[in-house]
Amino acid sequence: MKKLETSLCQINYSESLENLAEATVSLLDQKIKEFKLFFDISNNEQITVNYFDNVEEFREFIYSIRGEKDSLPKYAEGTYDNGMVNAYINPEFQLEKLYTSSHELFHILYMKYILNNDYSKRIVWYDEGMAQLMSGEKDSLTDDAFKEFYFNVREKTKIIPQMNSLDHGKSFINEDYNGYDLSYLCIRYLSETLSDIQFKNLMSDFSKIRQLGDDIIHKMFSYYDEKFENRIAKKYNLSVDELKNE
Ligand SMILES: [Zn+2]
Repeated sequence: MKKLETSLCQINYSESLENLAEATVSLLDQKIKEFKLFFDISNNEQITVNYFDNVEEFREFIYSIRGEKDSLPKYAEGTYDNGMVNAYINPEFQLEKLYTSSHELFHILYMKYILNNDYSKRIVWYDEGMAQLMSGEKDSLTDDAFKEFYFNVREKTKIIPQMNSLDHGKSFINEDYNGYDLSYLCIRYLSETLSDIQFKNLMSDFSKIRQLGDDIIHKMFSYYDEKFENRIAKKYNLSVDELKNE
């Protein structure tokens, strides 16, 4: 493994992943500052990232940390065991995986500073939705790109799950829905409808998150359905009422 290091992060990587390692240093130097503000972290700790270009090597590394092989889902290509970002990366598409580091880093800091390392407090849809929003991985979904993403997810959601019942494993990604996409949409809906301070305070109010999770998916779908209907109405210079009468 090769190594790149700044005061904020240390990247250990297979030689073929050098481009990604360099891009990760720039991304994390920015994201670590952002996350420290969001979580009110004042201490300085260096974040470690381990990038493997071989999936077996990645899995063996995780098995050795965990001391068992059962809890790592087959689809997992990134974890945050031992407070480190650990990932398998196909060198051919390495730059597409840049945001794995900031995504996993969100999980690490949320677990350490908000959940106080109590895994039983983790509400999966909330944590996964927040990691996707805060990592920057979906920042390109603005305006029409987001609208297209939304309609695509809505079309592919055959069964609407209860968000609080989502857990990693078969109930997270299956033929009926994609738990990552739905979690992201629910968190994005909250970020658009809550004030900044409400949004920030929510992260440590676990009973409120569970309460929201009971029906948030229906509220989210109604909110975006209406939002995009309104946009269509605006485009043609008609009010929603006029459209409904047609
Ligand atoms: Zn995640």
